[in-house]
Amino acid sequence: MIKINKSKCDGCGVCIESCPFGVLAIKDKKALVVKPEMCRDCQVCIQICPNKAIKYVDE
Ligand code: SF4
Ligand code: SF4
Repeated sequence: MIKINKSKCDGCGVCIESCPFGVLAIKDKKALVVKPEMCRDCQVCIQICPNKAIKYVDE
């Protein structure tokens, strides 16, 4: 599963557009995991985030 570091996220929205499965959304100008069950751990969002605000956590 992925985790978003809110203090690093500036709400640019790039990750939302990059996710093929609609897992992420912007809320209060921060990225948020809204459909965790849809995440395929493809890590596209992690690689694309310009602020390195997303990381992979083993759960
Ligand atoms: S790409 Fe990174 S900085 Fe931009 S909204 Fe997503 S998590 Fe936040
Ligand atoms: S790891 Fe892949 S499926 Fe999961 S939120 Fe990121 S881009 Fe979407």
